[in-house]
Amino acid sequence: MEGKKPKVAYFCMEFGLHEDLRIYAGGLGILAGDILKAARELDVPMVGVGILWRQGYTRQLIGEDGRPYDSYPTNDYIYDLVEDTGVKVKVKVRDDDIYCKVWKVDRYDNVPLYLLDTNLPENKNKWITGQLYGWFEEERIAQEIVLGIGGVRALRKLGIDVDLYHFNDGHPVLAGTELINEKMAKGMSFDEALEETRKEVIFTTHTPVKEGNESHGLEVMKYMGAFNGLTLDQMIKIGDSPFNMTVAGLRLSRIANGVSELHGKTARKMWSYVDNKAPIVSITNGVHRKSWVDDRIVKAYENGEDLLKPHQEIKSELIDFVEEKTGTRLNPEALLIGFARRAAPYKRGNLIFRKPEVIRPYLEEGKIQIIFSGKAHPLDDVGKGIIADLVKMSEKYPNSVVFLEDYNIEIGRMLTRGVDVWLNNPRRPLEASGTSGMKAAMNGALNLSTLDGWWPEACEHGVNGWQLGDGYEGEDQDQHDLDALYNVLLKEVVPTYYDNKEKWAQMMRASIESTYDKFSAQRMVSRYYDEMYQN
Ligand SMILES: *Cc1c(COP(=O)(O)O)cnc(C)c1O
Repeated sequence: MEGKKPKVAYFCMEFGLHEDLRIYAGGLGILAGDILKAARELDVPMVGVGILWRQGYTRQLIGEDGRPYDSYPTNDYIYDLVEDTGVKVKVKVRDDDIYCKVWKVDRYDNVPLYLLDTNLPENKNKWITGQLYGWFEEERIAQEIVLGIGGVRALRKLGIDVDLYHFNDGHPVLAGTELINEKMAKGMSFDEALEETRKEVIFTTHTPVKEGNESHGLEVMKYMGAFNGLTLDQMIKIGDSPFNMTVAGLRLSRIANGVSELHGKTARKMWSYVDNKAPIVSITNGVHRKSWVDDRIVKAYENGEDLLKPHQEIKSELIDFVEEKTGTRLNPEALLIGFARRAAPYKRGNLIFRKPEVIRPYLEEGKIQIIFSGKAHPLDDVGKGIIADLVKMSEKYPNSVVFLEDYNIEIGRMLTRGVDVWLNNPRRPLEASGTSGMKAAMNGALNLSTLDGWWPEACEHGVNGWQLGDGYEGEDQDQHDLDALYNVLLKEVVPTYYDNKEKWAQMMRASIESTYDKFSAQRMVSRYYDEMYQN
């Protein structure tokens, strides 16, 4: 990195900075939070732009019937965690003026995070910034007007000079309409304004699942005010019809990235039909080590000391935590597996149970223990079915399977520090990155994962963790990976854990060694500056 670094405004629908600031849902927000924290440590010029969600993402409760329920308590205490900037901006939603108050998270002084909030008495609709991903279509578009258009206006009014606008995923792309408008107001044609805008926008694409890429009909967008003064043809030129937020991100930016080597490749293929788009490079995600890695493990690792001792200590803390939450007392001497992710079908959360005759004896004997956690999207009944199935398993094997409700940053941190093995078995190539595996790896929790997301870049089978499935992609991938999972788990992981502690300790060391620098958020942010922000 040489010369003056460009000032970047990093836009994201959610930011996962701390469990108490409930303005995040999952991986996307955690990534955004880790980026701001790393930028702060590197002292690079960056600001975050997001939304102060008054209710946040669903609080998951498991009902008496074993099914997940959504609840949305109003978290007004979040106002104690932010500082008033005194700035207010106005956007148009439908025909209404909507005022957005701009708050600042003051913990990140050199890399502040600005959050927009419509909870004001003068607004006809105060609830636009209510639920994160809780609504859809009209409400979602209104939220995206606030984030994108309101976000740019907030930066102007705050007097922050920005060189580059980084859109993390498609939600902020309406900021592009505002950047184009500003230039047209100075006399440029639409085409010139689009070209100039492209020079200052960076885009990160995420989900390689087609349906996960949001799109909206242009009629409803127009009705909601999302055109922001542009014409129908101009909107189609940006995002096609229906208006695809990812396509818009790719057309509004000068460079885009996928979040792992494999995901970059998948994204290049997936979006190859889009014309006039930015090149998509691969910059693998990283995690903010101070937030996720336990000091005791780092110290023991650096001093060349035994890692099993601090790990056992941290594992017992997790076991106490689980007992407090569920009443179940797990066995600290037995193998403990963690699995926590969003309940999307491709993640196959219940894969390990699919041949009960194989896995049952191990669970009944308590030789294998598993902690699950994860939320389903409020409108996703299939995902809720997966959660209900996991809860059922915890009732069937009460001493060796537990489900922790309301997966959040605290649970993520406790699990990735305290388990012995971090299991991940998505259907390849649908996992974009999978940062929880990085958190686990740096804590010496050994990854057992399909070769998806980030894992192909790190995995040395039997040395720093294990792969399952050999990267197979095919119609019978479920069957193939299930056999592979049992094979590796029962013939390699379990015997190593119980019969070869020395090798286990070596593998923990190799896990940390091969990931601690390579998958840090600092490395990711440095690469952003070197490969996307500079020149
Ligand atoms: C790390 C983390 C994630 C993202 O992890 P994935 O591996 O992408 O699932 C999501 N939610 C929480 C609470 C996390 O800590």
